[in-house]
Amino acid sequence: KVSIFWFRRDLRIEDNAGLFQALSEKDPVLPLFIFDTNILDRLPSKKDGRVEFIHQSITQLNKAIGGHLCVKYGNPIDIFKELLNEWDVARIYTNHDYERYGLDRDATISSLAKEKRVEFKTFKDQVVFEKDEVLSGAGTPYTVFTPYSRKWKALLAGIVLPNYPSSTSTNYISETFSIPSLTDIGFQPSGLHFPQAIVADELIKSYAQDRDFPAKPGTSRLSVHLRFGTVSIRSLVRQVLGKSEVWLNELIWRDFYFNILHHFPHISDRHSFRKEYDRMNWRNNEEEFKAWCEGKTGYPIVDAGMRELNATGFMHNRVRMIVASFLVKHLLIDWRWGEAYFAEKLLDFDFAANNGGWQWAAGSGCDAAPYFRVFNPTLQTQKFDQSLAYIKKWVPELQELTYPTPIVNHEFARGRVLAAYKEALGK
Ligand code: FAD
Repeated sequence: KVSIFWFRRDLRIEDNAGLFQALSEKDPVLPLFIFDTNILDRLPSKKDGRVEFIHQSITQLNKAIGGHLCVKYGNPIDIFKELLNEWDVARIYTNHDYERYGLDRDATISSLAKEKRVEFKTFKDQVVFEKDEVLSGAGTPYTVFTPYSRKWKALLAGIVLPNYPSSTSTNYISETFSIPSLTDIGFQPSGLHFPQAIVADELIKSYAQDRDFPAKPGTSRLSVHLRFGTVSIRSLVRQVLGKSEVWLNELIWRDFYFNILHHFPHISDRHSFRKEYDRMNWRNNEEEFKAWCEGKTGYPIVDAGMRELNATGFMHNRVRMIVASFLVKHLLIDWRWGEAYFAEKLLDFDFAANNGGWQWAAGSGCDAAPYFRVFNPTLQTQKFDQSLAYIKKWVPELQELTYPTPIVNHEFARGRVLAAYKEALGK
């Protein structure tokens, strides 16, 4: 008999809840990773940095577990049908997924396992608190961040955050496998740079001061690692406690958006969190959308952000807020267009955080910026990139005649969007 442990958004052996549980059982563990064609086939480019990042991560993972990682390519349902025929499987363990596709897929595999009398069990690993763990006194989910974070911190103070040791067992199956190359699965190197999976205590300490200035290396750049679980969220919480309340809050925002996704599944149906915002009459001008995507709006801070995204797969959080606000409020383009573009480009793309960020910018989300707050790109630049160091890095032609004139006048756009919101919301 074997236990299967299925790696997904937890590509590490250290402090991995489900892996630890699988290794604690008496049967040897068949560690598994599946390149899921339901996801891969929908990617618009064969030079996708996320696929390359995953490929690198599982290569390291395989080394760390002595070459025993079994890597498959295909539809997970079919693959599990094969595995359940091939191996005498006692149980399948994996960590919780919170996105709709993952939940549906897991439900199918769970019933497949049940038919064969195989146990299918999932564990909390990706977040600190999940599902109904952080509820208000009245037993309802929070939709505002500050009270949520207060409760989150109170709960944390009452528990010992588990740290699942990775070295308890060498209890893997004896077989070793080879990992397909990136080209074997139809992809090519993206040329993107992947940040390190560590954060220095100094950065955590200066985070509150530096985090809003995109020219400074003031944020951790851990988002891609949190996305694919190459670092443990619990290890980061342990590291930050007592050092920076502000950085801890960012990690809590991440849990918060997973909490929203769990309790308000209508956001997975492309609906606004606040449904009345679905009445908005967007302009959705395709040429203007293209100019935004390419970083050619004539607003340097917006263009710098979009070019950073296109070139690196990353964008600084302050600039994400500015470009998102610009698309929705200055250009009156449906936030879902921007959400989809980010989903295509961001290395750290995560449905819950991305949807949360976009709906925040559009004013349609939980705890969102009010609809009447329209970021002024010029003032944002004066505040957060006064020396223009960030802008000049990404928009070197700023002073030249080739740089486009602003796509729309700020005051005009402000009046236009306020009128559109008022009409939609009946204000
Ligand atoms: P740090 O500032 O060092 O923060 C540490 C970690 O906390 C991050 O790695 C991230 O996991 C988490 N975090 C920080 N801010 C947020 C936040 N507002 N919401 C949720 N988690 C947060 N983040 C994503 O991980 N994936 C996305 O797809 C995504 N899309 C976004 C879209 C928009 C429009 C906006 C405004 C924000 C989005 N964010 C997203 C949140 C945030 O911009 C990034 O998490 C952050 O810029 C990543 O950089 P960092 O790792 O240096 O973050």
